[in-house]
Amino acid sequence: LQDRLEGVFKKIRGHARLDETNVQEALREVRLALLEADVNFKVVKAFTERVRERALGQDVLKSLTPGQMVVKIVHEEVLALLGGEAQTLDFRQKPLIVMMTGLQGSGKTTTTSKLALWLRRHHKRKPYLVPADVYRPAAIDQLHKLASQLDFPAHPSTTGQNPVDICREAVEEAARQGCDVVILDTAGRLHIDEPLMEELKAIKAAVNPHEILFVADAMTGQDAVTVAGSFNERLDITGVVLTKMDGDARGGAALSIKEVTGKPIKFVGMGEKASDLEIFHPDRAASRILGMGDILSLIEKAQEEFDATEAAEMERKLRQAQFTLDDFRTQMRRVKKLGSLESILKMIPGMGKITKQLGEVQMPEKEMARLEAIIGSMTKNERLEPKIINDSRKRRIAKGSGVQVGDVTALLKNFEQMRMMMQRMMGGGKMPKMPSMPG
Ligand code: GDP
Ligand code: MG
Repeated sequence: LQDRLEGVFKKIRGHARLDETNVQEALREVRLALLEADVNFKVVKAFTERVRERALGQDVLKSLTPGQMVVKIVHEEVLALLGGEAQTLDFRQKPLIVMMTGLQGSGKTTTTSKLALWLRRHHKRKPYLVPADVYRPAAIDQLHKLASQLDFPAHPSTTGQNPVDICREAVEEAARQGCDVVILDTAGRLHIDEPLMEELKAIKAAVNPHEILFVADAMTGQDAVTVAGSFNERLDITGVVLTKMDGDARGGAALSIKEVTGKPIKFVGMGEKASDLEIFHPDRAASRILGMGDILSLIEKAQEEFDATEAAEMERKLRQAQFTLDDFRTQMRRVKKLGSLESILKMIPGMGKITKQLGEVQMPEKEMARLEAIIGSMTKNERLEPKIINDSRKRRIAKGSGVQVGDVTALLKNFEQMRMMMQRMMGGGKMPKMPSMPG
């Protein structure tokens, strides 16, 4: 989304307000980006409509460009959709009964062991693992093996048994063994089918699980959404685990599943190892889906630190090549306030790529202090019109700031290069290499 929005930024930068036309234009890109992140098209449609309504009704914050304003609204809506706070399990329950459901291969068995480990590590709970997939002998072996590797007790299920009986007995057995969590690893199919749904409903009725987690493979995107919808309809799930988020899926499925089921995503699987389970954080996920973490932090920092009108004035000056040494000094002070020059460059849309080309841009404190001293030794007119700085003025400035004449010359040369580069940057042209600071 970042790449796309850069294009939009360029196109709609300069508009004072969001209007029907520029919002539509920005949203066309947002729509495509969401579809690329594998968000369901119906969800995308409903979503962009909400953003459009809000964007049109809202004033653009002074410190933001219209493009950034759209990003801000998009992000807020994604967050609202995903749910603000991370949610996990209801730990008041003892024993806590968790039922894992989902299609075959989605990651139920793996997640069963991951969840057990997570509960032991972070909540000092004692889980009891229950293989309830009696149709594939390998499925029972798989969970028994994982349980013994991690040293968890597991129910001695066999293929001949009725899964409802297994689950009922397992809950009793867990209590006998002093376990305070029971995780039921139920059977899956390649597709939803009625007998399976009936079986899951019967298990639910028999043991009354506190949690029914739907396990979805993030890589399957669109399909996972439909399946999540029908599991939720039949079983009234309590939450979702998105597995295989360590792959390159952008996680658009999270958005769709949440929109379709209304149930929270609680955990994400980040790998095949038992320790690869994480709590789902809506804010991080939103940034990942949209691929725009950097812009968001710019917006946040900008709102905190920048004086809105000053920033707008700076941009105007940059654009019109009226950027002076005075402004340069102001920027340098701002760099000090916000962190490194590199971190600021990275936050500007379009600059992420450029900082990569640049490598490390270093401007140590000492160096900045020296540049400030040189600029400080100039007269107001010299700062506004560096062209007038002839050799005798250079000598005076060098003396006043305790540097060599060559240093003053270098500063002026670099400043001129930087000014030209920034101008081209604001015009959206191709980036030349950043000149090195005088040193
Ligand atoms: P089940 O049929 O639903 O029980 O699925 P399994 O737990 O057997 O998992 C199917 C496959 O997905 C296995 O090869 C797992 O190692 C793999 N898998 C499960 N979760 C993850 C995950 O979060 N990341 C990755 N990379 N692989 C996973
Ligand atoms: Mg399994």
